[in-house]
Amino acid sequence: MRRRDFLRAMGFGAAAFAAPRWAFPAGGTPPRRPRNILFILADDLGWGDVSCYGATPGLTPFLDDYAKGGVRFTDAHSPASTCTPTRYAIFTGQYAWRKPGTGIAPGDSALLIDTDIATLPKLMKQSGMVTGAVGKWHLGMGPGPGKTDWNKPIKPSGNDVGFDYTFLMAATADRTPCVYVENGLVVGLDPNDPIEVNYRHNYPGEPDGKRDRASLKMDWDFGHNQAVVNGIGRIGYMKGGKKARWVDEEMADVFVEKACAFMEANKDRPFFLYLGTNDIHVPRVPHPRFVGKTPFGPRGDVTVQFDDSVRRVIEKLRELGLEQDTLVVITSDNGPMVNDGYKDQAVERLGDHKPSGDWRGHKYQPYEGGHRLPFIVRWDGAIPAGTNDALVSLVDLGATFAALRGVPVPQAALPDSFDQSATFLDPSAPSARTSLICQDYRLNLREGDWKYIVPGPAGNAPGPKNDPLNGELYDLSADPSERNNVIKQHPDRAKAMYATLLKAIRDGRTRP
Ligand code: CA
Repeated sequence: MRRRDFLRAMGFGAAAFAAPRWAFPAGGTPPRRPRNILFILADDLGWGDVSCYGATPGLTPFLDDYAKGGVRFTDAHSPASTCTPTRYAIFTGQYAWRKPGTGIAPGDSALLIDTDIATLPKLMKQSGMVTGAVGKWHLGMGPGPGKTDWNKPIKPSGNDVGFDYTFLMAATADRTPCVYVENGLVVGLDPNDPIEVNYRHNYPGEPDGKRDRASLKMDWDFGHNQAVVNGIGRIGYMKGGKKARWVDEEMADVFVEKACAFMEANKDRPFFLYLGTNDIHVPRVPHPRFVGKTPFGPRGDVTVQFDDSVRRVIEKLRELGLEQDTLVVITSDNGPMVNDGYKDQAVERLGDHKPSGDWRGHKYQPYEGGHRLPFIVRWDGAIPAGTNDALVSLVDLGATFAALRGVPVPQAALPDSFDQSATFLDPSAPSARTSLICQDYRLNLREGDWKYIVPGPAGNAPGPKNDPLNGELYDLSADPSERNNVIKQHPDRAKAMYATLLKAIRDGRTRP
């Protein structure tokens, strides 16, 4: 579809995207406790990919409309600019950089979350909810490389960190194993065709993304040239499990159906549901009904597919009559990436679409484009619609959900998670935090309008031997696009912020 036709088909106009401020008067009703929480986490969806945040209209028609009845946060951040550390932080309430080994995990990684610690889903269970996780996991499962037997019940898994029900993609769609795992069991496994997985070498007789490149239905640009599943090169190798392998084109529908089935099965009791979509991560392989729906190629088409997934899940919630009983949070795990390793026309067909909006940078980076996110909260009848400029991190979801459900968080638990329930319920209430830390391969600290990025590429954390004045300092109030590094003009502020980071590391926690 051509860009002009796309815009016309979407019937866009500025008024259609202007969310009214304070459209819903609460009418004096005191805040209630949400019976259910639905948490939808997109993958690599950028600030600018969601039309009610970005400049390109029509990519997310349902979400734009849905956001009008909810709260659109404008200063919300992932604690990391990649998948695994963000997800680790969400579920543990702990910045991932505190735990070595929580970088982007291979598909045969051991479970990264300690089964003994308090977690977001465990707190939800404690509050009387049944808990479910559907979709992307990317936090490891089983005992790890060479030890996990994919043909037997996989332990420990998401079911051991607080989820009663799990239906998971182990890592990412571009990594093996390319199968779904339901409550620790590979779905559809044929015992006569056992699965093996490794990240070191291919298996004899299996297709190979380098050798068999000409036969691929989506060519790779970098990486993604090891195992071949569904005609697409992946990172990592696998053999066997032929009948159990997913079909990328069906994945969004599979996750929606499992999420809806979970809500249906638990409609009569409180539930917490995490839905981690694969969209809009690579490989971008939309269902045929979305192919060509945008001028942007597969990346745009899977964005529309994501929007439609949200629509179907919310419509199910409404069909069950639960919209006034359910707090809904919709966001993304990190910023966008245009070329993330496959030749899918994302660069060539990008046109003037800006996936990061006017923020600098993208996924993997310490700039706002890497971690400032679309973040939509809606709870019909309880939270007035509008916008909210409170500083929020996804690491806060644990303490916030716990507070909303009335369950106390032990002092030692969720060490970096701030209770944002006040500002969730009343956008005029101040944020619970005035600073936050984000990570790419290094750390950056936000304090008020100031942002300090430690020197790179020095390593994962600042050390006493690094010169803090080799880092970067931005004044987001004057320079939101982080173009002017003013560290030389404000050396004392940079040193103070560096010291604050060192203290946060030393203290082992940032929550008071
Ligand atoms: Ca991601």
